[in-house]
Amino acid sequence: MSANNDTREVVIQGIGVSPGIVAGKAFLLTTDDERYVAREVEEDEIPREMARFEDALIETRRQIHDIQQKVSDAVGQDSAGIFDAHLMVVDDRAFVEEVIRELTARRRNVEVVLKDVAEKYAEALANIEDDYLRERAADVRDVARRILRNLSGKTSSQLQDLTEPCIVVANDLAPSDTATMNTEKVIGFVTDLGSHTSHTAIMARALGIPAIVGLHDVSLRVSEGDPVMIDGGKGLFFIHPTSDRLSSYNKLIESRRTIESELALLKDEPPETKDGYFVLLSANIELPSDIDSVIESGARGVGLFRSEFIYLSQDALPNEEEQFKAYEEVARRLSPHPVIIRTLDLGGDKFISHIRTLTELNPFMGWRAIRFCLAQPAIFKTQLRALLRASKHENVKLMYPMVSNVNEVLQANEILDQVRNELRREGHEFNENIDVGVMIEVPSAALTADLIAPHVDFFSIGTNDLIQYTLAVDRVNERIAYLYEPTHPAIIKLIRNTIDVAHRNGIWTGICGEMAGNPLMVPLLVGLGADELSMNPGSIPMAKDVIRNLTYSQAETLAEQTLASESATEVLDLCRSLTQKIAPEVLELVE
Ligand code: PEP
Ligand code: MG
Repeated sequence: MSANNDTREVVIQGIGVSPGIVAGKAFLLTTDDERYVAREVEEDEIPREMARFEDALIETRRQIHDIQQKVSDAVGQDSAGIFDAHLMVVDDRAFVEEVIRELTARRRNVEVVLKDVAEKYAEALANIEDDYLRERAADVRDVARRILRNLSGKTSSQLQDLTEPCIVVANDLAPSDTATMNTEKVIGFVTDLGSHTSHTAIMARALGIPAIVGLHDVSLRVSEGDPVMIDGGKGLFFIHPTSDRLSSYNKLIESRRTIESELALLKDEPPETKDGYFVLLSANIELPSDIDSVIESGARGVGLFRSEFIYLSQDALPNEEEQFKAYEEVARRLSPHPVIIRTLDLGGDKFISHIRTLTELNPFMGWRAIRFCLAQPAIFKTQLRALLRASKHENVKLMYPMVSNVNEVLQANEILDQVRNELRREGHEFNENIDVGVMIEVPSAALTADLIAPHVDFFSIGTNDLIQYTLAVDRVNERIAYLYEPTHPAIIKLIRNTIDVAHRNGIWTGICGEMAGNPLMVPLLVGLGADELSMNPGSIPMAKDVIRNLTYSQAETLAEQTLASESATEVLDLCRSLTQKIAPEVLELVE
């Protein structure tokens, strides 16, 4: 490991995904597999190692049974059957006996032996010319990881157990890590991998935690406890920052605080242009606990509730009652403002271990979102039941993610109708006329918006995915992040087309991708005709400030100019100079 052993300042440029400046001590996140120390054991210690192994096996078996039971209760026996393969690994005598034999022969601690034996089994299976057996390699690795975790005696994440404020340094963070981390202690994070619109980055912005991703090998360059500093706006990471650096940043923090407190005064002012054009500003949330920051930001409702984070933040599938409580709480607290709940969008970069999905080469183009839900009607129906029941608060709306053709909308609406009938029969109260929308985030949907519009009440453009699918740029791959250009003329044209089609069909269009919360883009999206902009709550004051300093004709002119532009850079320059002219204070906060 080439950690930074001296105390000279090191500055690394990455992709700033969540603005803000913080300094603190580094906490180096290791993966579960790395958490043990390899060591030799004395002969008289061997029985103790065997006993640890047996105990960990018993605990592992218990956990798998437990998960299986919960999955079976939620979605039926068939889906729960997949855990049989995991139980077969725990109960495989040949596997268990080989670990015990190797323990005696090699005199190493059980973690080392188990890891090696499991890897040998997994590799042998992975090389067999049979799809079914090849899949079992993943089961062996999964189970070995679980046993290792049980051997360490820690089942909760390292990020949940933090006791001191720190800046987390990791190779990568999964959205489920971010969803479960102790946000009182994590004051910032940096990762080797990732990009601006990965869900981990989105979570960081939602939580208001400064973060930088795409720092390549930062997790190898930092040592536990190193003093470090993040400038999230510029994407600069400092290891051992000098005292001069710290004091100049302290001055910057002070001047930003002054601007922020001035923007906070706009909280109750309407998001209206100088010439009276109103744009609804709403918030994106992941969990009901985000509502306080929504209310504080002055947002008028929620334009995107990423409901899958309820699934990601717990160890088993949430049942109908748990989901109902979450949706109901958000709807009640934000009433009468609209709350748009997006149905489950799992897959892509969001996975949960209690629903087994096959490893895919292109997960963002694979079994994701509405595709997954239509194939798993039991899971989908449970969510729709909870969601419809919450719609007794009439501000609740629902929308389907990643629709790529009209047929998916028809199928989803048909399932929704079945659920309506069930609830009616059971005497549940719900809004019969709930608004149903779709996310426009696949180019085929944007280009056939006219076919989809008659079947829905609104569109919400998901620019994060629309950009990755249109430009063929994986949204979480830092190596090609330079190609991920929200201002690419193709994106501007697709947004314009979608909004025009919506308006011709008498429905409204919101934008809920990260582009909507970028103050540089706000005038452009207003000029393209967006009716609503939904963003992380932290961006609301900036967006409102920009809108209140803008005239609608300035926005329209900008939109026309960008539609005639040839490159992403040209569009970005036009956007930057307008924001610089009308709201320079906002640029000071983000750049
Ligand atoms: C989007 O794709 O723009 C979007 C809002 O959804 P998500 O980021 O959750 O994929
Ligand atoms: Mg999306």
